[in-house]
Amino acid sequence: AMFDKLSRSVEKAWKMVSKDGKLTPENIKEPLKEIRRALLEADVSLPVVRRFVKKVEEKAVGQEVIVGVTPDMAFIKTVNDELVELMGSKGAKDLEQGFPQVILMAGLQGVGKTTACGKLALLLTKQKKKVLMVATDVYRPAAIDQLQKLGKDINVPVFDMGTSASPVEIARAGIAEAKRQKVDAVIVDTAGRLQIDDDMMKELKDTKAAIKPTDTLLVVDAMTGQEAANLVKAFNEQADISGAILTKMDGDSRGGAALSVREVSGKPIKFVGVGEKMDSLEPFYPERMASRILGQGDVLSLYEKAEQAIKAEDAEANMKRLLANKFDFNDFLTQYKTMSNMGGAQIMKLMPGMSKISEKQLYQMGKELKTYESMINVMQDEERASPEILAKSAARRRRIAQASGRTEAEVSNLMAKFTAVRAQVSKMSQMMKLGSPGGAQN
Ligand code: GDP
Repeated sequence: AMFDKLSRSVEKAWKMVSKDGKLTPENIKEPLKEIRRALLEADVSLPVVRRFVKKVEEKAVGQEVIVGVTPDMAFIKTVNDELVELMGSKGAKDLEQGFPQVILMAGLQGVGKTTACGKLALLLTKQKKKVLMVATDVYRPAAIDQLQKLGKDINVPVFDMGTSASPVEIARAGIAEAKRQKVDAVIVDTAGRLQIDDDMMKELKDTKAAIKPTDTLLVVDAMTGQEAANLVKAFNEQADISGAILTKMDGDSRGGAALSVREVSGKPIKFVGVGEKMDSLEPFYPERMASRILGQGDVLSLYEKAEQAIKAEDAEANMKRLLANKFDFNDFLTQYKTMSNMGGAQIMKLMPGMSKISEKQLYQMGKELKTYESMINVMQDEERASPEILAKSAARRRRIAQASGRTEAEVSNLMAKFTAVRAQVSKMSQMMKLGSPGGAQN
């Protein structure tokens, strides 16, 4: 199956990396050569492979050594992160929102475009969306019939006007019908041709201009490797598409398309087709693909645990430094920043009394942070260092409100929050002293 060969080669590379010391230009030379060879064999284009290998090399060698992480683990982790980057960063790229969402589907004949229309329609139906498909391939009546049949199978209506109107007119009428029926998403199938030609591009551009789709997706066949990536690039340059659907990922293609599309075209793969059945369309997750290629999930999670432990130690050291000093507005800001970013959330969960903080609270904190920051920014140094003078002076508080464009109530709110956080820090300080040898018990 896809990636099998690539996985084996990557594993081979991994085994070449030394198990002690650290990563050096010398000891990653051979493994990198192996990776390079593996990617080329997977049908990734040479410039992409070159850039990829160079990045891995730079990152791997410059890396800080983490306690509990061996060089081979660090190497896998670096390759993994760069693979994810290559395919377009973590997380699936959603369809753009719209009322209705209008998804224009393009692609050469035989790549699985019509099938992809049906699959996407079914996927959206499962998200409780009301969907309409529009058939505009007036050059192949059989294509219109095929979409009608697919629509019946999955219970999604298909709008067509036979071959009696131009594709642009049909698309426009289809959108009008969709609005009348108040559907949530319209999928417009366009004509597939045997190769890119000017007529095809013009028609796509005209249709796009007429219906202003929220997404224009190019359907490409994974079996065609590099060529699929080049097609996405060409379509994007001429018709500005929003992403690709990569079909036939269940086949035994070498995987080059999945790895190249983003880097070559600048556009993400949004979905992948993994079979002939209607329910075989999935959002494309670069991190899942990377982990499939590497097949080293347990190594990666070990790495992350080690990294977490280091972060927690840092946080504790910071906290101790903080507690040794007087807690002022500068500390407050640092503290609040740490607590309100997601990485911080994980650290805070490791701290006494903070395990119950929720994602929603964190989001709220992020919003508050901006307000607080604007007020703290306009404070004088002495005010930042000793909040008491602010508590005592209404004039100072008024000045801060005016200078930051906030209300006096917001300044008071900041004061209250400051007092609360200081109290919390002081409580934690007690806990940490109790917990440490030579602390309060003695
Ligand atoms: P179109 O000409 O681009 O509209 O292509 P079709 O939608 O008619 O599909 C061409 C062939 O590819 C059909 O036999 C489909 O069943 C098959 N096909 C489409 N997507 C996939 C897929 O993800 N996996 C597999 N194995 N076959 C697919």
